[in-house]
Amino acid sequence: MASGEQAAGSVSTSNFPMARRLKGLVSSLTRKQCRSLVRILVASLLLIIIALLPLGTWYTPRTATIVSFGLYLIPYLIVGHDVILKAGRNIASGNLFDENFLMTVATLGAFALVLFPQAEQHFAEGASVMLFYQVGEFFQAYAVGKSRKSIAEMMDIAPDHANVERDGALVEVDPEEVGVGDTIVVKPGERIPLDGIVIKGSSQLDTSALTGESAPRGIVEGDEVLSGCINLSGVLSIRTTRPFGESTVSRILELVESASERKSRTESVITRFARWYTPTVVAVAVLLSVLPPLIFGYPWADWIQRGLVFLVVSCPCAFVIAVPLSYFGGIGGASKAGILIKGSNYLEALARVDTMVFDKTGTLTNGSFGIVTVHPVGPVSSEDLVRYAAYAEAYSNHPIAKAVRDAHGQSLEEAIIEDVVETGGQGVSARVDGHSVRVGNDILMEQDGITDIPPCDVVGTVVHVAVDGRYLGYLVIADVVKEDAAQAIRDLHATGIKHTVMLTGDRSEVAHAVARDLDIDEVHAELLPQDKVGLLESLMANRRGRQGLAFIGDGINDAPVLTRADVGIAMGAMGSDAAIEAADIVLMNDRPSDIAKAVRVSRKTMRIVWQNILFALGIKFGVLILAAFGAANMWMAVFADVGVTCIAVLNAMRALGIREARG
Ligand code: ADP
Ligand code: MG
Repeated sequence: MASGEQAAGSVSTSNFPMARRLKGLVSSLTRKQCRSLVRILVASLLLIIIALLPLGTWYTPRTATIVSFGLYLIPYLIVGHDVILKAGRNIASGNLFDENFLMTVATLGAFALVLFPQAEQHFAEGASVMLFYQVGEFFQAYAVGKSRKSIAEMMDIAPDHANVERDGALVEVDPEEVGVGDTIVVKPGERIPLDGIVIKGSSQLDTSALTGESAPRGIVEGDEVLSGCINLSGVLSIRTTRPFGESTVSRILELVESASERKSRTESVITRFARWYTPTVVAVAVLLSVLPPLIFGYPWADWIQRGLVFLVVSCPCAFVIAVPLSYFGGIGGASKAGILIKGSNYLEALARVDTMVFDKTGTLTNGSFGIVTVHPVGPVSSEDLVRYAAYAEAYSNHPIAKAVRDAHGQSLEEAIIEDVVETGGQGVSARVDGHSVRVGNDILMEQDGITDIPPCDVVGTVVHVAVDGRYLGYLVIADVVKEDAAQAIRDLHATGIKHTVMLTGDRSEVAHAVARDLDIDEVHAELLPQDKVGLLESLMANRRGRQGLAFIGDGINDAPVLTRADVGIAMGAMGSDAAIEAADIVLMNDRPSDIAKAVRVSRKTMRIVWQNILFALGIKFGVLILAAFGAANMWMAVFADVGVTCIAVLNAMRALGIREARG
């Protein structure tokens, strides 16, 4: 039925492109917006007709004035009655100075000039000011609605159902009802509802909603898949690994929802500014209209008119709307590229950063390339060495743990694993089949009293294994630097980042090799988590003036550092939940090169914000001064308010486009 109606509608207008465009526009409006559009059109038509009436030839001048007063009142009330009502209600509730009040006083004032028979009359201006004000309001509502919608669409990643296998049959349920370890089936074209591991089937995934990456990603049995991606080709059976509430989709939606709550400093300054700005202008307007006639006996009508122009110009709409909209656009534009910014304050802080501090494993390197050497010491086989390590690492999310489990390659009997303790930046210890197993670096070994570690002259990250207090050997992980890491550091220097630093818990040989490769200025290796915090604090103490420092990391042990830095940036796909939680900005692609992109988006947004503030202030103060000297008329006042707001809103919407920010 509904589709039939739609088809009939499209047939009737399909031959008229203009009509179709208009229909598209109208159908995208809310009912409220439609009503105000109709009122604007009707009032405009009436205004034109009234202006064309030759009242002067029909009546004597005084009668003509009174008749035109009555006539102009009709379109004025049609278009502005709600503004007047709102102003009245605000006065009743005690808050005077908002734009409804300003508009009402200014326009009613223009009509009140009818009481001064000698004065020039401004009914047409009075009605038009209200009309243009409403056009501006309409335009704002449309622009805000549109950028909200485009962010919402971009973030429209919430799956609405999951197909769960229950007793051999497929049942369609709410994703929240699916438990961990359940098997779900995702058909081609469907969105993956929960994070999990593919147990049957292979397919191509569209990951663009999460990562902004448009090329489909091939996946096969055993691969991990994230919720929010769209399954493009094959049928997939997936064993879920996280409940819906902790799946990637829910986490992202939470981040986006909380983003608008965190306001930047500029935004709060603007709000505070508007609070004293409007009353001040009202006071000046009153003084301007009352003092000169009282003191010098100048004509009342003339000075009241100057006061009215003053009031119309004084509306702070341009900042109040366009500044938050610019931030909104910047956050939306960044999220299109897979960069989640948790609030406009972080966007502002990022624009000021000149020192970038990186973690190594998982941030600049993949951390999961695989094991190159297995080096048993004493009477233990290579297989057993890897097996012990894999069992101890069974629950760790560290990239090293994944490499170790991959090397083992067999499923783990979880029943024999107990007492797992992971120490960030050191390794893990666990009880496996009754044996105490430790897997990690020198520091972890030393804590267990193991000092007979042979010198390891290898390039790569070394992971030692000890069982029941006895050293059994080590594994070497060939950790490779991420493809775009070198480019990322070059890009950052090109965007004006002055200093790059690397902090790592890994051995100093590996750290220096990576830093040399990437051209990083300063390196600190073999750090415990608390050392990272200490070093970061001393780096922060050295920063100059208002410059900021950003830290980029991925691990659990990075969380305290992420919180401490001016801006914390986490890797979103491989990164630990703790890091994502603690960070201010999350890179969904784990690509270091996105950092430079984020910096450029932030600077572009701040440029737009300041353009809008200065432009609006400049024009407004200009017209205010002209009005005070009687050189500005109502029409200039209307431009200074509505025109400036519209231009500022258009400028703000540029922040949504990220392409420009690439250059
Ligand atoms: P980075 O600071 O470079 O990101 P981490 O702090 O994550 O590195 O880890 C530092 C060192 O701690 C690693 O090089 C490794 O030797 C050891 N380590 C940390 N977690 C583990 C783990 N789960 N298994 C084995 N070793 C680990
Ligand atoms: Mg790390």
